[in-house]
Amino acid sequence: MQTQKSRPGAGTASATTSRSNDNPIDAVLHRLEKVKSTGPGKWIALCPAHDDKRPSLSIKEAEDGCALLKCWTGCGAAEIVSALGLSLADLFPGDRRSLHQHGTAPMRRPFDYRDALQGISHEATVARLIVSAINRGDDVDADALDRLALAEERIDDALRAAGGVQ
Ligand SMILES: [Zn+2]
Repeated sequence: MQTQKSRPGAGTASATTSRSNDNPIDAVLHRLEKVKSTGPGKWIALCPAHDDKRPSLSIKEAEDGCALLKCWTGCGAAEIVSALGLSLADLFPGDRRSLHQHGTAPMRRPFDYRDALQGISHEATVARLIVSAINRGDDVDADALDRLALAEERIDDALRAAGGVQ
């Protein structure tokens, strides 16, 4: 039960960063220009990834604290974050721990299906964002690939917490 599967290529890339990632939305908003609030948890701003004259980037804070970015002219999330000096992993809260630190830490107390499904849905969103960046041919950094491995690991954790595979 406790043994970690080995994952070639994953696990060392970003272990040492001291940057905290508690508030992805702030990190993103601080770096953007002409930020305007358009409602609770929603903003528009100039897209840093193309020559934007009127704000065409919409920013949304998801319930779980993820920063969701959408440029209406079609810039990819990876292009946008790299134009901001960030990485895709910076869009997700508390995700800068390395895979090793994450390890097989038990999930929160008694098993809660809603909690687990919410977590899996979050991981699926993360995976979709990263995969769609890859699909677009965006430059995907090692952090993003690490994050993808972490998504798999968290889903495994949820399964384990639910009693594991029979
Ligand atoms: Zn754009």
